[in-house]
Amino acid sequence: MKEQLRNYRRDFHKYPESGWTEFRTTSIIAEVLMGFNYIVLLGKDVIDESFVMGRPGEPEIQKHIQRAIRQGADEEIVNKMEGYTGVVAIMDTGRPGPTTAFRFDIDANDVEESTSDSHRPITEGFRSLNPDVMHACGHDGHTAIGLGTAEYISKNIDQLKGKIILIFQPAEEGVRGARAIAEKGHLDKVDYFVAGHLGFNLDSGYFSPRASGFLATTKLDVTFKGNSAHAGAEPEAGKNALLAAAAAAINLHAISSHSKGATRLNVGQLIAGSGRNVIPELAVLKLETRGESTELNEYMLDKAYKVLNGAAAMYDVEIDVKKVGEAGTAECDDELVSIMTEIAIGIPEFNTIVQDHKLGGSEDASVLMAKVQEHGGKATYVFLGSKIAAGHHNSKFDFDESVLERGYKIFTQAVKKLNGV
Ligand SMILES: [Zn+2]
Ligand SMILES: [Zn+2]
Repeated sequence: MKEQLRNYRRDFHKYPESGWTEFRTTSIIAEVLMGFNYIVLLGKDVIDESFVMGRPGEPEIQKHIQRAIRQGADEEIVNKMEGYTGVVAIMDTGRPGPTTAFRFDIDANDVEESTSDSHRPITEGFRSLNPDVMHACGHDGHTAIGLGTAEYISKNIDQLKGKIILIFQPAEEGVRGARAIAEKGHLDKVDYFVAGHLGFNLDSGYFSPRASGFLATTKLDVTFKGNSAHAGAEPEAGKNALLAAAAAAINLHAISSHSKGATRLNVGQLIAGSGRNVIPELAVLKLETRGESTELNEYMLDKAYKVLNGAAAMYDVEIDVKKVGEAGTAECDDELVSIMTEIAIGIPEFNTIVQDHKLGGSEDASVLMAKVQEHGGKATYVFLGSKIAAGHHNSKFDFDESVLERGYKIFTQAVKKLNGV
């Protein structure tokens, strides 16, 4: 299994695909799971398309489908995806028992991978072959652990009861993918739910059964539409979208902090105008809000809308706001936290257990967790410590591959504990 896990990881690392374009990745996952006798759901059986956020336009999608097929995706499986990536696989043991779901995210980052001689994917020959995309967060490792766990379940089905659902989620980056899976109802009857992440400032051998400090977040793409005009001959005929967006950017960052807790706002991109002597007709601004609680994020979002609409009104331009990502905060359930702790204590490769580890960012597993909890199920989010070569999302990111075995052990032991006969 050790070698298998590494092979999976390195293959996904070599062919990374970013959110909503994981056609090759989805195809490989589906093929493996079909081989292990899962009920394999694809396309609109996985995704409720009305809740899809931040998906690229159709021409872009088609381009990625073609690349995926060139890079080894199965054409028939790709056709079944109907343009939507991700896999939900179900194993029903036929024996009464709990329903347990595990979530593994599968997308890569929009980062050009390092070409440095000290970067292991270079020296060992598995650097990304796709320009501007890289597995810089470790989701290649998550996917590998998921497939290893899938094999274990299939081969030990005689020892198991209840139902096991494996969710291979697209588009975690930018918190775009989970909502569309949650709304499809896959989690409505789940008793136990576990998701997790490798790395995250925990060294190899560390384990945390509980993540805290999830920030609720909303991602917005805003388009300001004005009117172009000759900047010398007839400036008054123009409506300046650039100035509207610039005014918005400055004032978004002036939204007051809140006495009830931490908030964040970032305007991460602003593209405007077309030429020196033209009144700018178009501006596109990308921003995100965050809050320690859903309420605090709502506060930031509400103020952000006021600033955006105010800036548009001030410059007499039109505005279009698209929500391209959203996640809430999350609470891990004590019952599942103690079960995961007990499992980790039984695995000698874990030498340190951190009872509570802060995420300090956003994760749309929170959306899936909330769905499970809404129906009375228990959920947790765990951390698998791993030495990393550079920070998450950095072009030199790489992780200690021994985490793959530790992850495999944690997830398969959880299967045994929760669904063992
Ligand atoms: Zn990430
Ligand atoms: Zn990640």
